[in-house]
Amino acid sequence: MSEIRVRFAPSPTGPLHIGGLRTALFNYLFAKKNNGTFLVRIEDTDKKREVAGAEDYIFKSLDWCGMKVDEKNPDNSHRQSSRKKLYQAKAKELIKKGMAYYAFDSEQELQRLREENLVNKKIFMYNWKTRKKLKNSLTMSKEEVSSMVGQGKPFVVRFLCPQDKKVDTNDLIRGKGSIDSSIIDDKVLIKADGMPTYHFANVIDDNMMRISHVIRGEEWLPSLALHILLYQAFEWDPPKFAHLPLILNPNGKGKLSKRSADKSGFPVFPLNWKKEKTLGFKESGFLPAALNNYMASLGWTAESGKEIMGMDELIKSFKLENVVSAAANFDFKRLKWVNQKHITKTPDEELFNQVVAFFPKTKTLAKTQALIAINLVKERAETICDFWGLTKYLFYAPETFDENAILRLSKEKILILDQIKRIADGARGKQSLDFAERFLDDCLVWGNKNNIKTAKTMTALRLALVGGLQGIEIKKIVSFIGISEVCSRLEKLQGHIS
Ligand code: GLU
Repeated sequence: MSEIRVRFAPSPTGPLHIGGLRTALFNYLFAKKNNGTFLVRIEDTDKKREVAGAEDYIFKSLDWCGMKVDEKNPDNSHRQSSRKKLYQAKAKELIKKGMAYYAFDSEQELQRLREENLVNKKIFMYNWKTRKKLKNSLTMSKEEVSSMVGQGKPFVVRFLCPQDKKVDTNDLIRGKGSIDSSIIDDKVLIKADGMPTYHFANVIDDNMMRISHVIRGEEWLPSLALHILLYQAFEWDPPKFAHLPLILNPNGKGKLSKRSADKSGFPVFPLNWKKEKTLGFKESGFLPAALNNYMASLGWTAESGKEIMGMDELIKSFKLENVVSAAANFDFKRLKWVNQKHITKTPDEELFNQVVAFFPKTKTLAKTQALIAINLVKERAETICDFWGLTKYLFYAPETFDENAILRLSKEKILILDQIKRIADGARGKQSLDFAERFLDDCLVWGNKNNIKTAKTMTALRLALVGGLQGIEIKKIVSFIGISEVCSRLEKLQGHIS
């Protein structure tokens, strides 16, 4: 197979959405799987839509996800705007070949034509039918055209789209197709500001950057025939194409949008975006490995059926031919499940910094203790943000108690608490390695003797230690906080109910 070179080609028009990030990931996986090159090209030809900080955000997001960019020239030539002259020269080449032309129609004139057509329920197209009646280098004399261009009159360059030509397309995911070129309009290649349009710059760059496979979102599928025609106009071999399936809102209705994500309370951006209120996946406690793993499942499954995979495994098992064309619904619950599996697999030391970043600033904890606590609860954490809620009772006595649970303990609670407090006091002096086990044994033995259900005794104890019915195994809590703390928490609950 010839050299594999793929590119991720975002436009810096805002923060990178999970849809774009998934496109980057599939490009990355495909490149790495085939010992190829992963390029990033910033498609910044639409200066009106450019948003400050977006390019930086894109690179930071890729970096956070561990997608190492192989090619991005230091002289900023990854930006299309730096190659304006090249595209203009390429447009002139096509004009010379008679495959493109200058057009001088003003925006107002075109708007008038659009409106007139609409009255008759028609859509105006600048194409083989209409171009002969419009103001362009096909209808004007050479002298007129040179004088207009010479005087700096505004113009665009349009593609002379052939009429009645069968354009064959081939997509690695969707198979073969064919389109009649007559339905495509004469697309603008160079805009009035001298900048190329997306289509033109995209095709030229893909050729010049020797891109072997164009892997991009399904929304670009309608442009494929035009792109093929442009490759043919230049007599270039087109790359191979793969259009990835859409990512839909959780209910399957419409493309996944920030608006619906905001409503349902989940992020769609990898990182916090200063201008938006929605947090990024990072700030919502997701591990990049989990996000990658989940994103890979949006349109692709491993042949092995394995669901939880790190980047290396994803690379090894990724195959473009296993990507499906059917759209995938975004499933936040599943993403949390995947995240929980990755948290469980991550070494405690690695989790530590991320976890404490979510702890209240006022709480400083000894690292050794925090590491033990992380280990004790990590299987229960769906996100990194969950750790504080899952561990705080290991460090601090509860401030409130679950009143319903207290009620359910009936009047025996006073007796139970008195007794286990007495047992705990007794255990204080004789600390041993298995003190937690002994203490609990003693509590249970007493309960059995006095006809009190084990569940009741344990509930009373849990309420004192945690404040509610949640939490890890009681024995683990007792051995983590120590018997003196057990005594003081029992006393606190006694005080609360008396
Ligand atoms: N700039 C386009 C985008 O933001 C790239 C499309 C392509 O990959 O060809 O989606």
